[in-house]
Amino acid sequence: MEDYNATTRNGHQLIDFYDSDANTLDIRSNGLYPSKILTELRDNYDKRDKGIVHKKRIFVDMDNVLVDFDSGLAQVSEEVKQEYEGRLDEIPGLFGLMKPMPGAIEAMHELQKRYDLFILSTAPWKNPSAWSDKVKWVTQYLDDVFHKRMVITHRKDLCQGDYLIDDRGKNGTSEFSGEWIEFGSEKFPDWRSVLEYLNAKEKYPLHNYGR
Ligand SMILES: [Mg+2]
Repeated sequence: MEDYNATTRNGHQLIDFYDSDANTLDIRSNGLYPSKILTELRDNYDKRDKGIVHKKRIFVDMDNVLVDFDSGLAQVSEEVKQEYEGRLDEIPGLFGLMKPMPGAIEAMHELQKRYDLFILSTAPWKNPSAWSDKVKWVTQYLDDVFHKRMVITHRKDLCQGDYLIDDRGKNGTSEFSGEWIEFGSEKFPDWRSVLEYLNAKEKYPLHNYGR
């Protein structure tokens, strides 16, 4: 009978031989694994073969994360800016004028290979054209990544995911149940720093079993 509680076998420590995230066995064990570990290994391969494996989910904010808000403002006349002083995000058509943030397009194509990506943005309640402008923007710049993968809400905390990349804690971001990556902060000043962080932390983002 197999002793599932064994901690050593033939002088080898059995702990740490199995990495459940990577679904791999440590070769230093000389092939001496408890059958419990082998069963788990096989089950995880079965799940992967049946397509049960889920990618980790990342939500991405738009303004000042994907979209350079100021690049839109720069194309608006001083007259209009004065008219909308204190509520610049209500300028009609403003969101359609904005350019992508540096590195944002490339970063999305990189993340798309390994993660389940969605846009999670808020649009001003009093500027309905901003809602459609945001969809148009995504269609123009990143339709290959975010086609029909977009949530516009004032309650970002209601969305379930592993990460939310957002520059502000507003509209539910600070209450998000996954990890908030604060874009533009000292730790994450740009897209490069975000990609480096995720690459270092998530060696095996495809092996997130059992969601
Ligand atoms: Mg933002």
